[in-house]
Amino acid sequence: MNSETTVSPNFDTFDHDHLWHPYTSTINPLPTYKVRSARGCRITLEDGTELIEGMSSWWCAVHGYNHPVLNEAVRRQLDSMAHVMFGGLTHEPAIELGKLLLSIVPPSMSHIFYADSGSVAVEVAMKMAVQYQVAAGHPDRTNFVTIRTGYHGDTWNAMSVCDPVTGMHSLFGSALPVRYFAPSPHSRFDGGWDPHDIDPLREIIEKHGKDIAALILEPIVQGAGGMRFYHPQYLREAAALCREHGLLLIFDEIATGFGRTGKLFAWEHAGVEPDIMCIGKALTGGYMTFSAVLANDLVADTISSHDPRVFMHGPTFMGNPLACSVAVASTRLLLESGWQEKVRRIEAQLREELAPARRIPSVADVRVLGAIGVLEMKQPVDMAWMQKRFVEEGIWLRPFGRLVYTMPPFIIEPGELSVLTSRMLKIVSEIPG
Ligand SMILES: *Cc1c(COP(=O)(O)O)cnc(C)c1O
Repeated sequence: MNSETTVSPNFDTFDHDHLWHPYTSTINPLPTYKVRSARGCRITLEDGTELIEGMSSWWCAVHGYNHPVLNEAVRRQLDSMAHVMFGGLTHEPAIELGKLLLSIVPPSMSHIFYADSGSVAVEVAMKMAVQYQVAAGHPDRTNFVTIRTGYHGDTWNAMSVCDPVTGMHSLFGSALPVRYFAPSPHSRFDGGWDPHDIDPLREIIEKHGKDIAALILEPIVQGAGGMRFYHPQYLREAAALCREHGLLLIFDEIATGFGRTGKLFAWEHAGVEPDIMCIGKALTGGYMTFSAVLANDLVADTISSHDPRVFMHGPTFMGNPLACSVAVASTRLLLESGWQEKVRRIEAQLREELAPARRIPSVADVRVLGAIGVLEMKQPVDMAWMQKRFVEEGIWLRPFGRLVYTMPPFIIEPGELSVLTSRMLKIVSEIPG
């Protein structure tokens, strides 16, 4: 065997030829790396290479991988039942999770709809808003307003409120509903508030409010649409506009929830409660796909008081007991694990260790909030090259567009985080400015 001609065990030909990965070509797919196992903050590739995990598998794995407490929760649940339908039946894991969630979400949230994924939660939230408006006597309020550089998922309506450019709306032409878009706020989270920042949203709502069911946005941190952190005052003013003009307010906390931004949920930065809120991703600690839509009494009771007097949605795997059990275990673990201290420590370290990137010619901006660190590059990165360099350097990050960023598991050790940040800086330094 000549190692130079042997294909790496991390490469799988069947995968390359037949498996579609996120946002990739079948003809010329970006390389994928085969994972043998993952534990704590480490991913082990098929050839034994260990990578320090900087992505938490897209915001989810806050406790790291293969956690004994979460493993046990799934195993214990498996022994009683993996699943039963939620139509006409209920079970302890769903009830326990509901009680736990209501104790940590905005106090006005009182009704919980379990769904299968983040995108589905967004679909459910949007349907809820339209059904609410119909029930409230406003059948013309069927559209939505949002802000640019947002991300809300890849299903049809979720996609329609994603940023039109990064969400590639042009691809789908007239098949995609057309929403109202305000520019994303330019007042930074850590900067001053520019009172004019709210003007474009106010203009849209004053002009078209009668067609609009709800404003949907990611509070404080815009995730996959641009990794931007904006000023809490924007949320306060946006919420006041919604109340004044009869729009519901939907917070998509699918990425921001469960401690990631330094608060348990990002609405706390502004003290503004939504009418409807979506959570997902870290809800199960990265174990299973699961989400929840939370609503206040006004939304739930208005829908339920007018024909057809029911909310019209019901996924097959709604309230899946395995997912509920691991969500209970993960959320308890989070609350008992001193998450706030861990996130504060990660934030301080990211601030200190990413700051020198401001002097790297290819870097346009550096920003940190909670356990999120972002290097915004001047040019879009060559993803395949950069991914390969990261793996060579023993870290796992997944850049996109002009963004090289990390949101590590909260259990990451300071030494591991230093390796991650120093390699990030090293590799972006290799890009000409
Ligand atoms: C990831 C994400 C979604 C979509 O969740 P999926 O589980 O991938 O469908 C929606 N909104 C936000 C803010 C997200 O980060």
